[in-house]
Amino acid sequence: MSVSEILARIRDTVLRMFPHAATPGLIPIGDPGPDAPVLLSCNFTLTLRRLQRVLAGRDLWLLAADTRGINVWCAAGGGYLTHHQVIAAIRSTGIDRLVNHRELVLPQLAATGIEPRRVRAATGWKSRWGPARLEDLPAYLDRGLRVTRRERRMRFPLWERLEMASMWAVWTALIEGAIFALLGGWQVGIGVAVSTLLSVGGVFAALPHLVVFGRGRWLTYAGFAVLGAGIGSAVVLLLGAATPRAVALEAIGAVIAMAVLSIDLAGTTPWYPSSINTFRNFARIDLEVERCTAAGDCVQVCPAEVLRMNGPLRRVTIARPGACIQCGACIVQCPSDALRFLYPGGRIIPPSTIRETRMNMLGRRTVEV
Ligand code: SF4
Repeated sequence: MSVSEILARIRDTVLRMFPHAATPGLIPIGDPGPDAPVLLSCNFTLTLRRLQRVLAGRDLWLLAADTRGINVWCAAGGGYLTHHQVIAAIRSTGIDRLVNHRELVLPQLAATGIEPRRVRAATGWKSRWGPARLEDLPAYLDRGLRVTRRERRMRFPLWERLEMASMWAVWTALIEGAIFALLGGWQVGIGVAVSTLLSVGGVFAALPHLVVFGRGRWLTYAGFAVLGAGIGSAVVLLLGAATPRAVALEAIGAVIAMAVLSIDLAGTTPWYPSSINTFRNFARIDLEVERCTAAGDCVQVCPAEVLRMNGPLRRVTIARPGACIQCGACIVQCPSDALRFLYPGGRIIPPSTIRETRMNMLGRRTVEV
């Protein structure tokens, strides 16, 4: 890997919070012919670079839809990768003239936004869901476009979680460090920056074992704020500047770092409220059993293995309700509108609302009703 590529990867990783767009359109990988598979993705530079790396040595067509430089999951969740972008990508690239089939492989994580039946109605192209993670694409292609249960599940290995942490931690640490340096001196600024980097990194490292969703989330953030304050105080002590004021500033800095992080992870904060999960009312996924026709689309797109097909009963079951991340993909894809979000008091968010507004915990969490 060249130095410029390493630098580009670092830039795109640290800046991944901000959209970074490559030119949308058709990208031939290798020497694709008329029978080569056609895969669709976003036009986020980091994703396209990774795709080109994992698909090197193969012959296929890659359609980069115009998602305004946002990655697949966030774009689909936020309404920037829907069937409209897929239809536009098919029509604008002339892919119809280059291949003699009409089958498109969609990234599974786009299921919150794309409705394949609408793509088919507008273009004649059939869609199938690929794996959740692009790293699994080579095995998926080798298997003849068959996805395994393991590949449907979204996994966040430690290095990826730390990569995610960097997008929050680096910026928060730099900005907070500068502000607190002005307020209390450079030692305090360094203390706040170090404690922010470590406490935010600690949250992401421990994420699979933490409560960041639901009522217990406040305890998690409070715990990491105390940890951050302790780290910051230790740093100012080491730098020989430990005063009551400096320690108090470290504590304030640690609370701010956790408050910033909770905007993304908790789903409901004073800064970023949510229509799905309000402070007192948490929606959960619900299946109207009598509507279920066992089409199985929901099972194919669920990234958390919440839903299972019960073969003997010919029915879908909610096998792991606690694992639901409220992405809404199953609701969008169910052809019989059997899934919805349900509040403890009985209020529901119907599928039509989810489809029209793309309301889900990954993108647009709040809609005006
Ligand atoms: S909303 Fe829950 S059950 Fe439905 S696809 Fe997302 S994680 Fe799975």
